[in-house]
Amino acid sequence: MSGRNNDERTGAIETNVGDSTAAVQAATQQPNQNQSGLNFVVPTEFVELPSGGKYYTDGHPLQGQETIEIKFMTAKDEDILTSRSLLKKGLAINRFLQNIIVNKAIKVDDLLVGDKNAMLTAARVSGYGADYVTNTTCPACTTQSQYEFDLNEGNITGFHTEDCDHEAFDGRVTDNKDGTFNIALPKSEVTVTVRMMTGKDEMKLAESLQNKKKKSLVGHDTNMTDQMRTYIAAVNGSSQMTHIIGFVNAMPASDSRFLRKTYQAIMPNYDLRQHFACEACGYDQDMEVPFTADFFWPKQ
Ligand SMILES: [Zn+2]
Repeated sequence: MSGRNNDERTGAIETNVGDSTAAVQAATQQPNQNQSGLNFVVPTEFVELPSGGKYYTDGHPLQGQETIEIKFMTAKDEDILTSRSLLKKGLAINRFLQNIIVNKAIKVDDLLVGDKNAMLTAARVSGYGADYVTNTTCPACTTQSQYEFDLNEGNITGFHTEDCDHEAFDGRVTDNKDGTFNIALPKSEVTVTVRMMTGKDEMKLAESLQNKKKKSLVGHDTNMTDQMRTYIAAVNGSSQMTHIIGFVNAMPASDSRFLRKTYQAIMPNYDLRQHFACEACGYDQDMEVPFTADFFWPKQ
């Protein structure tokens, strides 16, 4: 897959469309075809859910499920991902994911964000390979540089995993066993209740960022408070939005940092953080893999 440019890929889509048309025509001549009329099966794969099916409520099709079955990307999926109007609205990825989920009772809106990330990554790896080259912006000096990520290098993280260092929480995290956690903040001694973000939350967040005319791909640091407002369900037991917003805006920076770090550690995710070192200013830190357009449209 690597080495193709976009023009060549367009050619590939046309070829694929031609093939499926031929398949449809062939299918109509045979009586015992499935409803789609296609005489080939789109291969599927099972993706390990970072949540392990925990945290989904009663009746959700993924409750207790450790994996989810997804179809391999097709040419039509590529069309969805390149639709400029959809991308603008931030909908392309969600529509694509909805398309590849085999069990149609599962809605992307209800998926936990970490499970979504794992599915996206798996679909990308089986479609285009694990090498991901993209431009990243240094958070310190804003220099742009090319960075290469290996999408197979991720780890499943979260409070429920064996790798989670519970002692590091110093008794400040309580699992409420209902998909929420209480985090006692060290500086203010305020207890915040956090919940897991879903696909729907992510969409709302992206919309609000767009409304603020910010770029959504500049990294999580710029939308920190928006994100906290989304996942904080209560402050000292109060779920009133005015209390939550008031606290987020006034919380000490050290608590903010503790909250973000702890939240990242306890939420189920397919963690693709990799070490980032800026050649221009020497800044280095672990960085999350940015889901830019290159994710599904690799340049090389
Ligand atoms: Zn830099």
